[in-house]
Amino acid sequence: MSAPYTSGAMAGPDVDVVVVGAGFAGLYMLYRLRAFGFSAIAIEAAEDVGGTWYWNRYPGARCDVPSVDYSYSFDPELDEEWGWTEKFATQPEILAYINHVAEKHDLRRDIRFSTRVEAATWDEGANLWRVRTDSGDEIVCRYYVMATGCLSVPKAPEVEGTAEFRGDVYFTSSWPREGVDFAGKRVGVIGTGSSGIQAIPLIAREAEALVVFQRTPNFSVPARNGAVPDYLRLQLETRRDEYREEARWSRNGSPRPLPTLRVFDVDEGERFRRFEAGWHGGELSSITASFTDLMVDPDANDAVSEFLRDKIRSIVDDPEIAEALCPTDYPFGTKRPCLDTDYYATYNRPNVRLVDLRKTPIDRISERGIETQDESIDLDVIVFATGFDAMTGALLSIDLAGRGGVRLADKWAAGPVTYLGLATAGFPNLFMITGPGSPSVLSNMLVSIEHHVEWIVDCLDHLRSNGFDVVEATPTAEESWGQHVNDCADLTLFPRAASWYMGANVPGKPRVILPYVGGVGPYRKACVEVVDRGYLGFVLSGGGRVHHNDGIVRRLQPDVAALLEAREALNLPDVAGAPVEVVRAHTAALAAGRPPGPEVGELVDGTLPGPAGDLVYRLFRPESDGPHGVVVYFHGGGWVVGSHDSDDPFCRDLCARSDALVVSVGYRLAPEAPFPAAVEDGLAAVDWIADHARELGGIPGALAVCGWSAGGNIAAVVCRLARDAGRPAISGQVLLNPVTDADMTRVGYVENGTGFILTADLMRSFWDHYAPVEDRADPRASPLRATDLGGLPPALVVTCEFDPLRDEGAAYARALSAAGVAARHVDCRGQIHTSVIAVDVIRSAAAVRAEVASELRGFLSGVPTAGLLTSG
Ligand code: FAD
Ligand code: NAP
Repeated sequence: MSAPYTSGAMAGPDVDVVVVGAGFAGLYMLYRLRAFGFSAIAIEAAEDVGGTWYWNRYPGARCDVPSVDYSYSFDPELDEEWGWTEKFATQPEILAYINHVAEKHDLRRDIRFSTRVEAATWDEGANLWRVRTDSGDEIVCRYYVMATGCLSVPKAPEVEGTAEFRGDVYFTSSWPREGVDFAGKRVGVIGTGSSGIQAIPLIAREAEALVVFQRTPNFSVPARNGAVPDYLRLQLETRRDEYREEARWSRNGSPRPLPTLRVFDVDEGERFRRFEAGWHGGELSSITASFTDLMVDPDANDAVSEFLRDKIRSIVDDPEIAEALCPTDYPFGTKRPCLDTDYYATYNRPNVRLVDLRKTPIDRISERGIETQDESIDLDVIVFATGFDAMTGALLSIDLAGRGGVRLADKWAAGPVTYLGLATAGFPNLFMITGPGSPSVLSNMLVSIEHHVEWIVDCLDHLRSNGFDVVEATPTAEESWGQHVNDCADLTLFPRAASWYMGANVPGKPRVILPYVGGVGPYRKACVEVVDRGYLGFVLSGGGRVHHNDGIVRRLQPDVAALLEAREALNLPDVAGAPVEVVRAHTAALAAGRPPGPEVGELVDGTLPGPAGDLVYRLFRPESDGPHGVVVYFHGGGWVVGSHDSDDPFCRDLCARSDALVVSVGYRLAPEAPFPAAVEDGLAAVDWIADHARELGGIPGALAVCGWSAGGNIAAVVCRLARDAGRPAISGQVLLNPVTDADMTRVGYVENGTGFILTADLMRSFWDHYAPVEDRADPRASPLRATDLGGLPPALVVTCEFDPLRDEGAAYARALSAAGVAARHVDCRGQIHTSVIAVDVIRSAAAVRAEVASELRGFLSGVPTAGLLTSG
C-alpha cells in the first residue's frame, strides 16, 4: 500500500470522463457520454479505432456470433445503412464497420491514439482520478472508465528461445497490418484455440508446409458461413426493435429458442437427431442449446462430447491424428468451443502435420525452428496463437491505486472482486466495461458492452441530477456478488476445465471463474434491480450528502431463484386454508412431474403394525450387498399431506448416498388423525423396524431417524419418546427443516413468510389441522418446549436461510447442544424450505444432501461427526 495521493490545489478536472480503449466499448462510451452532455476523451494504445478488430488481423479472423447480432443496436440507422456480406463477417469487414461508426458519429476527435495509460490514482482530497499516460501527460477526470477489453493483452509465449529464432515470428493477437506472405514457407503454428482454428486452414492453403503444435485439442463445429441467412436478415428487416430487445434479455445475447428437454429425456435416436441438427445449425448455440443440461450434467455432456468426437473421427482420415484431435480431458463448452471452416479436414492435406505436445512437449525454440522432446522441426515462420491474459490482463496492466493508495493488483491478488463486473469497492468513480463478474465473454459481447455503457452513463446522469459526484460499491455488495457468481458457476461444469475462463491459461493466475455464467437476461435483471432499489450496494456522495445504500441484490441460490420464477409464471393457486383434499391434490399434481431420483438396489412396499392399525412403509435398499444400517424416514407435508412415497426421490438419494437401508413410513395424517397420532405412529414404526431390522436386511442396532419438515418434528419427538421408553436405541437423528415449535412469531416467519413455497399461512393451516391450540405447547407437538432434552441421540439439524421454520430449527439445535447432546447445525445459504429434498431440481443443495448422508453413515457406524454447534 502506498500513501494516498492528495492534491494540493483544488483544481477541477480536465474532463468529466476518461475512457481507456477505443474498441466497440470505448467508442460507444464516448458517443453516449457526449449524448448525455458529459465531456470525455478516450485514450487508445493503437493507432486507430477497432480494439480486437484492429489488432487481430490474422488470416481467417472473423466473428463467430452472427454479424446481425454482433453489431451495435444503439443506432437503428446502422442496421439500415450497413449490409453484412456474410453471416460471420471477416475482420476487415468488422473493422470497416467500426470505422464507419467512428466517422458517422465523429468520434475520433476525442480520441488520443498511440497513447497508453500507465497509471491512474484516486485523489482522495479532490475526489478525482489522475490518469498518467506513456507520453508523460496527466489527465484529471471525475470518472474513469476502463474499456480496455477482455481479450486485449496477449499471453506471454512461455516458450524458451523465441528471440533466437532466425525466421519470422508472429502473434495472431498483433498481426502486421500489411499481412504475411506464407507462400513457399515452412510454418509452425502453436495453439489450437479459436484463433489457431481460424488461421490454420488458410495458412495451410498458402504455406509449403504447416506444422500445428497442439497442447489441448478443442471442440469445433462447422460455421457453415455464407450470405446472411434469411432467419437472421428478416429479423432486422421485419421486427428489428423487438429482435434487439429480445437479445438484451436472452441467455447469451443472441435471441434463439431455448431448449426444454434434457439429454436423457429422449431416446438415443432423438438425441442423435438433435445433436446432428446442432452440428448442421451453423452457430455455436445450435449445439450448446440442443438440450437444457449439457453444461450442468456430466453424463449429458459426455453424450454431446462423444458425438462431437465421432464427427472428428469421421472427417479426419488418419485415425491416429483423429484421436489426437479429440478433446477428452474437459467437458464440452467449458473451454471456449470454436466455429470453423474446414479445420479438421485440413489435417487430411499432405502438407499439414500435427504434433501432439502432450506426447512430445516443446523443449525450446532454436534459431532453426522448434525442438520437441523427440525431434527438431525446421521452420521459416512461427505463429503464436497462444491466447490472452483474459478479463483481468488489461485492467491489471495499469497501475491503479484507489482509496488509501490500495493497488488494484493487491486487492485482486487472489482473483478479481467486483460488484456486477462494473465497479470494485475502494475504487470510487471507476467503472469497468464487461469486467470480471459480468457475462462478458460468455455472451454476444456487443449486447453486453451496450448494456454496460448505458448502465454507467445512466448512473453518471443520476449522480449529476441528484447533486452527487462520487459513487462506490460497498464491500458487502461486491462480496455477495462474488458469492453469487461462484454459486452460478458451481452449478455448471465450467470449474472442471483448466480454461482461460478460470484463469488457468496464465501461470500463477488465481484459479477463479472470471465471467458470470448466469446469463445475459438474468444479469441485466439484477442490474435493473440495483438501480430500482436506489443503487443498492453503492454509496453515493457529494455536496455534503451521503446516500449509503448497502445491500445484497442476489441472495437466493440461482437454481432456487429459477424455480421460484418458474412457479410464479405458472400462477399456482394459494392453497393455504383450502380444504385438505385440495391441498393434497395440489401437492400430488406438483410431485407428478419431478425427477425420479437415482436408481437404488430394490424398492419394497410393506406394512407394519401401528397403534391404530397397519401403517404402510416403503423400503429403499442400496445396490451394495447388505446387511445395511437402517434409517427410518418421516416425510414432510405439515402432518396433513404426503405418504410413504411422497419424498421418494429424496429417499432414493439418501439411500444411494448413505448406503443405508431407508424405510419411509406412512404415518396417519391430520385432520382425520390429529395430534398425537403422527408421533405415536412414528414411535411404533421405529420400534417395529428396530425389532425387525434383520428380516428387512438391516444391521440390528444400527438405526437412525431422519425427517423433513413435519417429518423432522416427528423424528425429533420420536427420539425423546424412545429415550423415555428406554427403547428402541437410536444412534442419530437428522432433522431437516424441522417444525419444532408452534410459535409462529419468529423473525423467520416474518422475513420468509411469503414467496418461498412454504408460506406462513400454509404453516398456520397445517397447525390448525394438526393440533388444537391448547395442545401445541405439548413437547410432543413442539419439541423445542421440552425441558429435558438431555440424553438424546446425536443430531444434525439442517435449516435454510429462506425458510419460515429457519429460526425454530436453529433454536432446537442450540437447545440440544445446551442439553449436552452432540448436535450440529447446518444453515444452508440461499436455500428455501423445499430445497434439501428437491433432488435433481435444486442442484445447489446437493452438497448438503451429501453432508446429510455422510452424517448418517457416521451415526450408523457409531462414529458420528457431530460435535460443536456450527453453521455453514
Ligand atoms: P477491445 O476491442 O479489446 O478494445 C480494447 C482497447 O483498449 C484495445 O484497442 C486496446 O489497445 C486498448 N487498451 C487496453 N489497455 C490500454 C491502455 N492501458 N491504454 C490505452 N489503450 C488500452 N466477441 C463476440 O462476442 N463475438 C465474437 O465473434 C468475437 N470474436 C472475437 C475474435 C477475436 C479474434 C478476439 C480476440 C475476440 C473476439 N471476441 C468476440 C471478443 C471481443 O474482444 C469483443 O467482442 C469486443 O471486440 C471487445 O471490445 P472492447 O472494446 O470491449 O475491447
Ligand atoms: P486460446 O483460446 O486461449 O487458445 C490458445 C491456444 O494456445 C490453446 O490451444 C493453448 O493450449 C495454446 N497454448 C498456449 N500457450 C501455449 C504454450 N506455451 N505451448 C503450447 N500451446 C500453448 O486463445 P485464442 O485462440 O486466441 O482465443 C481466445 C479467445 O478469443 C477465444 O476463446 C474467443 O473468445 C476469442 N476469439 C474468438 C474468435 C472467433 O471465432 N470469433 C477467434 C479468436 C478468438 P492450452 O489449451 O493447452 O492452454
